[in-house]
Amino acid sequence: MAEETLFTKIIKGEIPSEKVYRDEFVTAFKDINPKARHHILIVPNKPIPTVADIEPEDEKLIGHLFTVARKIAEDLGVNKSGYRLIFNCGPDGHQEVQHVHMHFLAGGDLGLGGFPEK
Ligand code: AMP
Repeated sequence: MAEETLFTKIIKGEIPSEKVYRDEFVTAFKDINPKARHHILIVPNKPIPTVADIEPEDEKLIGHLFTVARKIAEDLGVNKSGYRLIFNCGPDGHQEVQHVHMHFLAGGDLGLGGFPEK
């Protein structure tokens, strides 16, 4: 069996994290190295390695990540001011953790494209 990812261990509670949302399909927690005032990772509980591994059967699950992002934006009060959603994929995309995750960034002007400059 493939080795569990860091995020699978976080989802199972074996590694601590600051969780902001959880349901049967998705777990969201604060990024340990935030690139914006609010930087949350929204992760499917199913350990899909990268965006390139998403199968047609996963479409509903991946769509759910966006519904959770919307809920988090409303909870944080940034649904009107705006936010940014990012998926990194593969070496050129600088994906560090091989478990699909959506970066949710918000809190002030994020500038143009990509992760904001700190
Ligand atoms: P990526 O480069 O898209 O794979 O993003 C991985 C993200 O995971 C980075 O933004 C890291 O700061 C974040 N990260 C790494 N370890 C942890 C952890 N233990 N808890 C929360 N976030 C983490």
